[in-house]
Amino acid sequence: MNNNSISLRKFPYPYRAALALANDIDNTPSLEMFLQMMKLLNSDSQTSLGKGLGLEVGSSFWFFNATKSPQLSYFKGIDSIENDFAVVCRELWNSGHIDVLHTYGDFDEGGFKRKFAEKSINELTKYGVKIQTWINHGNKNNLQNLGLYDSQSGAIPHHSAYHFDLLKSYGIRYIWSGKMTHVIGQDANKTLNIRAKNFLQTVLANFKYRHCEEPLFDLQNRLRIKTLLQDGSLVWDFQRFVNAWGQEQILDINDLTKQLKPSIVKTLITNAGYLIVYTHMCEGLSDFKQFPLKLYDHLKFISKMYQSGKLLIATTTRLLQYSEIQQNLIWQSRQEDQITKIEITSYIEVLDEKYKLSENILEGLTFYCDSPEKVIISFKDKNLKIHRNPKDYMGKYSVSIPWKKLEYPDL
Ligand SMILES: [Zn+2]
Repeated sequence: MNNNSISLRKFPYPYRAALALANDIDNTPSLEMFLQMMKLLNSDSQTSLGKGLGLEVGSSFWFFNATKSPQLSYFKGIDSIENDFAVVCRELWNSGHIDVLHTYGDFDEGGFKRKFAEKSINELTKYGVKIQTWINHGNKNNLQNLGLYDSQSGAIPHHSAYHFDLLKSYGIRYIWSGKMTHVIGQDANKTLNIRAKNFLQTVLANFKYRHCEEPLFDLQNRLRIKTLLQDGSLVWDFQRFVNAWGQEQILDINDLTKQLKPSIVKTLITNAGYLIVYTHMCEGLSDFKQFPLKLYDHLKFISKMYQSGKLLIATTTRLLQYSEIQQNLIWQSRQEDQITKIEITSYIEVLDEKYKLSENILEGLTFYCDSPEKVIISFKDKNLKIHRNPKDYMGKYSVSIPWKKLEYPDL
């Protein structure tokens, strides 16, 4: 008889919600500022912006800059000569802290060609790097953009900007085509706050944005939306949080202060959702002194929520991947003598195909149970190393596959 009832917990133990900062690299004033910002967020060391906060925050990057404005890019202009940023990119690709391709480069003044996609993917392949997330950039001249909105041509077969075949075989899995949200937490519990915000977005969608063919908001409030691109490829298109209504939208360092207000963070925890925050966290920071003191306080509050086990902070890609696996996991439990064995199937069925799992991407999965000491978790006939957890805020015991924070390199 199975007297150890098992269920899958939504977030890794002990967290109640999860947040990522999704940083677009545009208008980062200098490499030094980028490094100090990343160190501030990810390490415990002293930085020019204050004492490190010990979070886990990733960033996007560019290979090219085809514009006249100074930008941080891996290569100089559209050349093959490396900038100093290249070495940093390679370090942070390896550590997982640069996890998003913000398109191949800045083509705000036009000029994108398929050869730039080939060169970028060759470079990633050369270093054995797997970037899984893509975020669109800029104005309509960026024909490389992916999705179904106007001028997004990267996945249109026979278009001169077509390149998605390359990205797909390389392994891009999550894209951001432009979907924004004001709802504080996706895939969240249906609290009063979530229902009210979703209602307001429905009103906006039906009136202000009624002429938009491709909806800007996802009225089901999902973190990832299964999307069919023009070339028949299926991808996950995810949403990013802009603000809780009506404030300006430069989404620079000053807007970030408002986006990360403690009231928003507390609401996210209550709503038990995922939040991927849309930001350009170095924009507006040409001088260390411009770093808003209030933002530092807000980040300290977030760090406190993280350390106390209420809010998981992770890179955009890890959050997307965790949610994808958690929501689609196939598992069964059975009783063997006194032991309950949870068996995780080696694949999930998503985007109309079987997606193979490996042990290293199961981190964080947590199962509620009555007697943790009598539970084992197996994957591909191997018993995994697990943590047996005390009661969480719901008063329930659990076992989990340990979630490890990414280690920030000494840069
Ligand atoms: Zn951008």
